[in-house]
Amino acid sequence: MYIGNHLSSSKGFEHMGKEALKLGANTFAFFTRNPRGGAAKEISEDDANKLRALMEEHHFGKLVAHAPYTMNVCAEKESVLNFSRGVLADDLARMEYLPHNYYNFHPGSHVGQGAEKGIELIADALNAALKPEYQTIVLLETMAGKGSEVGKSFEELKAILDRIELSDKVGVCLDTCHVWDAGYDIVHDLDGVLQNFDEIIGLDRLCAVHFNDSMNDCGAHKDRHQKIGEGKIGADALLAVAYHPLLAGRPFILETPNDDEGYAREIAMVRNAEPLAK
Ligand code: FE
Ligand code: FE
Ligand code: ZN
Repeated sequence: MYIGNHLSSSKGFEHMGKEALKLGANTFAFFTRNPRGGAAKEISEDDANKLRALMEEHHFGKLVAHAPYTMNVCAEKESVLNFSRGVLADDLARMEYLPHNYYNFHPGSHVGQGAEKGIELIADALNAALKPEYQTIVLLETMAGKGSEVGKSFEELKAILDRIELSDKVGVCLDTCHVWDAGYDIVHDLDGVLQNFDEIIGLDRLCAVHFNDSMNDCGAHKDRHQKIGEGKIGADALLAVAYHPLLAGRPFILETPNDDEGYAREIAMVRNAEPLAK
């Protein structure tokens, strides 16, 4: 399986590949720019090519890049909208240095404009940023539904996807903590949740998984991640997700509160659990 965690991009692309190997990972996530700001480092093509070679040599799965949290393409303020649309367009152009990977973003917060309006703005931003020649698949992340977040239900995500002109360039990243907090009971009815996803969106569009336990109860709309097995979802339910046959082949990204040692331990734990999960 493909599993890894969020890595710091401050020392470049190849460095992240080497860090991933040290942790026992064969995929990883990274922020395309300062997650709480907007500044982006210049990309070295040579560095990007070194990571591509490393990934090929070590049979990595697709990477799952993450947009900055400050990007909100369904904001109300004109200045935030313009900033966010600029970040999205620039990030997608930069992703071409690492072709055939994923770019995941939080659909956004409609800040009182209503989900309907939010969905329209998100689709508009994607339609403006996507280009036919791009080789990246852009993923909408499933959200917990805190505040005015758009993307807390499969129906909302589907409504966005339906409005995208270049529809083969968009998919979904399922965050286990977020769907649980949004009210999808993956502990008692994982098959039912996946069936629901399949009926509304289609499992072929579920491209990646953010693999987290949650500090809160199902439906709490809180979004606070916990280490695997130390939260309300629990290890058994999460391992059932990791080894669900309908999710085989997807990159699983840990976003749990851990240091490097903790991530290495969680990666090994998930890998070693394969026979148990059957
Ligand atoms: Fe996220
Ligand atoms: Fe996530
Ligand atoms: Zn989260």
